[in-house]
Amino acid sequence: MNDSGQEQIYLHTMLTQQRQAFEQEPFPSLAVRRDRLDRIGRLLKNHRNELCEVVSRDFGHRSSHETTMLEIVPMMGSLRHTRSHLRSWMRPERRGRSIEFLQMSNWVQHQPLGVVGIMAPWNYPLLLALGPLIDILAAGNRAMIKPSELVPETSALLAKLVAEYFKPEEVTVIEGGVEVAAAFSALPFDHLLFTGSTNVGKKVMAAAAANLTPLTLELGGKSPTIIAPDYPVASATQDIVFGKLMNAGQTCIAPDYVLVKKDKLDSFVEAFFEQVQRFYPSATGSAHFTSLVGARAHERLLKGLNECRERGIDIRTVDIPLPKSGLGLQPTLLINPPADCLLMEEEIFGPVLPVIPYNTLDDAIAFVRSRPRPLALYIFTHESETQQKVLEKTISGNVTVNGTLLHIAQNDLPFGGVGPSGLGAYHGYEGFKRFSHARGIAKVRLFNPARLATPPYGRFTALLARFMGR
Ligand code: NAD
Repeated sequence: MNDSGQEQIYLHTMLTQQRQAFEQEPFPSLAVRRDRLDRIGRLLKNHRNELCEVVSRDFGHRSSHETTMLEIVPMMGSLRHTRSHLRSWMRPERRGRSIEFLQMSNWVQHQPLGVVGIMAPWNYPLLLALGPLIDILAAGNRAMIKPSELVPETSALLAKLVAEYFKPEEVTVIEGGVEVAAAFSALPFDHLLFTGSTNVGKKVMAAAAANLTPLTLELGGKSPTIIAPDYPVASATQDIVFGKLMNAGQTCIAPDYVLVKKDKLDSFVEAFFEQVQRFYPSATGSAHFTSLVGARAHERLLKGLNECRERGIDIRTVDIPLPKSGLGLQPTLLINPPADCLLMEEEIFGPVLPVIPYNTLDDAIAFVRSRPRPLALYIFTHESETQQKVLEKTISGNVTVNGTLLHIAQNDLPFGGVGPSGLGAYHGYEGFKRFSHARGIAKVRLFNPARLATPPYGRFTALLARFMGR
């Protein structure tokens, strides 16, 4: 048998093993779930340095501050939040009943689904592999994780650590390349969570459809940022540079492009240069700026920039020290690029920021509305009518007002995309519900009202039908 045949058998064996273990314990107690969550916490705390080091090696270079602040810290917060609310989330939710059914009681019980598959991308390789695990284990499930082949050292360490902290029938990590990922997506999981690009998301959805596997898709897209006319440009720029240059722009919810009022364009460019140099001064810049994950990502961005250069688009590059290892790219602005250039058609996923000048706020809103629905949207304004107008007239997975990225760190907000940027949301209570089956339960107490409507039918049934059908 060839390697791919053996891999398939291994994947099916792991799934069967997890499913059998789930059948033995279909509704884990609060204590069991909390213990599983605590083990994720211990794994992260005990191996923080090792995890930061392997991520940096896989990227070429990434500051341990970024790995800690953007991956480990949010998971620790999410663990604390989930642990403290889990008892109430697991409680049955009482539901109402109509007057005809006063003799009944109704409730919803969130029931574990079984075995959930997690497919993670490379850009936040810890957060997007272990973060969903928090919601999945809290909901009482078991999980198989397929990390990205583009971060092989991180995937290997995750596999080793998960095997130390969890039994394989609780959680297991499957390493391997694209063929393994494709086979993984075709497994008949009870739910599959895919985080990655929209193109691969389509393939994963097609594979899941063959088994009718319920799916959550966390995809990408071009997240717009609007600086409304009333908002101080320098202040907005500080938050935009932060959101754009974390992880060198390789963030699914990074501001992809900025819409700024025409007469503020020069102030924006000036503020951008100042802010980038303040964040990445010559003494520490190379240590704090992240490399691009691989040659493919680097080439894609260079190709986009070359196209802009050939088409005479105004390109402004901020000269900062690049990381000493890996492939770096200087933070770059594209001034008013046309809609049909590569970098305005594709998600940028790098430290390049197109700036589009607008005449009126309605023009800026129309620009956003004319494009596929994005994963995130950022609006900077102090005016509540402007905020309301933008919120009502645009659609996106999430929004942060007067900041960037912050919505992802809120434990009590659903996180996810809409349309081409994703399907379904998780995090906190929404995550617990996403990976549970909301089972509606109706209980007859003293008297079963259906007994009033049994044959042989007569005048009473007719009266009852008239009352109920009123
Ligand atoms: P990707 O789509 O290339 O890969 C994601 C996963 O899919 C990997 O685990 C990979 O092994 C697997 N895969 C690759 N080819 C496959 C195939 N043919 N069949 C099945 N699986 C396959 O994405 P990426 O480059 O790792 O990550 C970047 C993308 O992810 C960006 O578009 C970004 O916006 C998106 N993203 C989204 C979120 C979110 O939460 N919505 C978070 C991070 C990244």
